[in-house]
Amino acid sequence: MEKFEILNYMVGGFFLLSFSFVSYFIGLNACQYLGRILYPSRIVSYRELEDIVAFEALKLGINPKNIDVKLNENEITGVKKTKGRYDMSFRNIPKDISVIRHELYHVLKDCDKFEDRKIDYLYFLFIAEPRATLYGTFGIKI
Ligand SMILES: [Zn+2]
Repeated sequence: MEKFEILNYMVGGFFLLSFSFVSYFIGLNACQYLGRILYPSRIVSYRELEDIVAFEALKLGINPKNIDVKLNENEITGVKKTKGRYDMSFRNIPKDISVIRHELYHVLKDCDKFEDRKIDYLYFLFIAEPRATLYGTFGIKI
């Protein structure tokens, strides 16, 4: 095998890997965007947001009394578990219910694993996010 041939394979592999990553993220974002179309929100107040979170939590068998819903412009939308409670933060009132369902699926499947330790970003990126997106958008539980 000549030097040029090895370089050719490396360049081809790099482009294939790059294409795969870009396709993956486009697909993930497309599913999340589809959620906005499928489940548009008419939530206008914090109180309604809390009620929808409680309603959707009960559908998943999660006790809504363990979830603290926060609206904070300075935080990103997400959920984490601290001291046995789930802190669900929204930057603003969600435009679609799939965002709420997505975060609740993290509560169901992922938050307990990372309560007292650092998040494993590979797990989060390739298992937790697609799984929560599938539930948020299509209601598929895996
Ligand atoms: Zn997520």
